[in-house]
Formats: sequence, C-alpha cells, structure tokens
Amino acid sequence: TRCPIAASRGEPRERTGPVADHEAALKAMAEELDADGLGLDSPALAAIGHRVVHGGMHFTEPTVVDEAVLAEIERLIPVAPLHNPANLTGIRTATALRPDLPQVAVFDTSFHTTMPESAARYAIDVRTADEHRVRRYGFHGTSHAYVSRETARLLGKAPEDVNVIVLHLGNGASASAVRGGKCVDTSMGLTPLEGLVMGTRSGDVDPAVIFHLTRVGGMSVDEIDTLLNKKSGLVGLCGDNDMREIRRRVDAGDEEAKLAFDIYIHRLKKYIGAYYAVLGRVDAVAFTAGVGENAAPVREAAVAGLAGLGLEVDAGRNGARGTGPRLISPDGARVAVAVVPTDEEMEIATQTYALVRKPN
Ligand code: AMP
Repeated sequence: TRCPIAASRGEPRERTGPVADHEAALKAMAEELDADGLGLDSPALAAIGHRVVHGGMHFTEPTVVDEAVLAEIERLIPVAPLHNPANLTGIRTATALRPDLPQVAVFDTSFHTTMPESAARYAIDVRTADEHRVRRYGFHGTSHAYVSRETARLLGKAPEDVNVIVLHLGNGASASAVRGGKCVDTSMGLTPLEGLVMGTRSGDVDPAVIFHLTRVGGMSVDEIDTLLNKKSGLVGLCGDNDMREIRRRVDAGDEEAKLAFDIYIHRLKKYIGAYYAVLGRVDAVAFTAGVGENAAPVREAAVAGLAGLGLEVDAGRNGARGTGPRLISPDGARVAVAVVPTDEEMEIATQTYALVRKPN
C-alpha cells in the first residue's frame, strides 16, 4: 500500500508498506511529518484538508466539517459507493486524532458546480431525474481547478482572461472546458464512468448496451457495473491499462494494442473538438496526470490533424523530458498546448488554508 505524504516544507515524501487501516495510515503520515518537527501534535498545524469525491450540488466550496456536513457526505454514498465511505473514514479518523483542529472537506465535484444547466442535465424526464438526483456532477475538480489556473500562469495571464481545455489523463480520465477560470463542461457525469476511455472504465457507451447485455447477454446489473468500471477501457480492449506497456506493444506491431490506442485517441479528439465548440475561443489545451504528463505519443496523436483549429505540437518540445509546466506548441501557435503537472494535494492544502485563515 502506498502512503503518500505531503510534507509541509514542499518536498513530497512517500512511504511504502502494509497499513492496517486509515488510522494506521494517518499515523504513519504524522510520523513522517514528525521528522520535520511538524507532526500531528504540532501547534503549527492549522487544519486538516480532506479530498471528498462526491459533494453533489450542495457543496460548491471547501467546507469545514461538522455533523451536518458528515450527514450530507453520507447521504451521497449511493452516487459514490466506492469513494465517499472511505472519505468519511478518513475524516472521522483525523478528527479523533486532532479533535481541536478544523477538518476541511474539499470536494472533487465543487469546481464543476458552475456548469450551466444545459451542460449539467441529461435529457431525461425532469421529474425522474430530480427525484433521484440524476445529473452530471463531474469529478477530478481539484485537478481541473489547479491545472487551469497553472496554465493561465504559464501564459502569463489571469485565469479570468483565458479559456482552457484541461485533459486529465490518468488511470481515471476526464476533460473539462474552463472559461475564464470557471468550468462550463466536463466529461464525467453522475459518476466517474462517463466520458473518455480510461484504464479500466469504458467512458461513453450507448445506455442501451446495458439493456442489451441484460436481456440478450443474461448479465446482472452488478455484473455490468463491474464490466464497465473494471474490465473495460484500455484493459478491456487489449489486456493492459498502463500506457507505457501499450506503447511498447504498439511499437512492436501489436494490432490489439494499436486498436486500443486508436480508440483512446479517437475519443479524446472528439472531446477536444466538442469543448473547442463549447468555448468558442480556446487559449490553451493542457495535458495532465500520469498519461498526460508522460506520454508524448498520446499528446501528439490527440492534436494530430487539428492545425486548422490552431492546435499543433512541436515534436522536439513534446518529446523532451521535463517536470514543471511547459509549452509543447511551436512559437507563435494560435492555441498554446501545454503539459501542466497536476498537484491535487497542494490544491487541497491551499484551499483548506485559505478557508481557515479567513477572518470570520
Ligand atoms: P495517474 O492515475 O494520474 O497516477 O496515472 C497513472 C497512469 O499513468 C498509469 O496507469 C500509466 O498508464 C500512465 N503513466 C505513468 N507514467 C507513464 C509514462 N512514463 N509513460 C506513459 N504513461 C505513463
């Protein structure tokens, strides 16, 4: 089990090893901080920030956790069965360890609550949708917020002055259209299953695929849930979900891996085109997360043929190794194409600190 540590002096640390539960993991993190004299007992600790995946429509901002907030996160478990229970455990454990500190929930959905209804609603019966809270919430919001802001900074502009398409391509993957710092559309929906082709998730499919697999394939709803979330995407298409391995196979002439790669790119390109149209004017396209930051062939293929839209990558810049935010488009390009490493932990810490230091 990986145990990521965001140390306060800016150097991330990681400790690898088995941990029994959330409490043991938090204590291990505290020990790492202790080495810096900034452990869990430290008076310098201002708050504890938590990533919470689903905040529904309710939480548009980072929020100091109280009983009512815990109850609302719990109420959202049916739409985030894998994540919200674990997030609650983390909050409860941290509260037990430092009951005097504010615990702040930073929601993956918050950044997307600015989406207009035209983007957030599915075209299904309104009463049914409202009764069951079926709408598009979007996820990876902390990353989309951070990366869109960092992209503006890379361009030397204020976030209010730029329109950005953010492509968060990790094992989970999502795209967002950000106008003047505010999200206007994103590819994930009610759950993180919609949108792009991911490591193990299908992304968009005709919903009738589910009826067909039930009626004709004899599968149960749970089996289809597992199929679409865990056995689809790149792994379903070619048996691998690591882009490094897929590229190695493509380079070795493997047809199955090539088709998986092509399907991944085709979907990605469709979203770039869609969000270009949604935004009308695009200043930058930013690639982030494991695949987006590291896989030059993915970036090259995603914008190939889009010179007419002002989108191009410079082969030398795209292929060069780098760690910080960087431009990969040629000088003078109409649309900047950039690699902007995401930092969700830093964003959660920044938002948490901004909230607790606000005068009441
Ligand atoms: P994330 O969810 O952001 O941690 O991304 C994890 C994914 O990034 C892995 O499953 C790989 O597919 C991909 N990845 C990580 N490093 C590289 C790399 N050097 N080249 C290509 N893909 C990579």
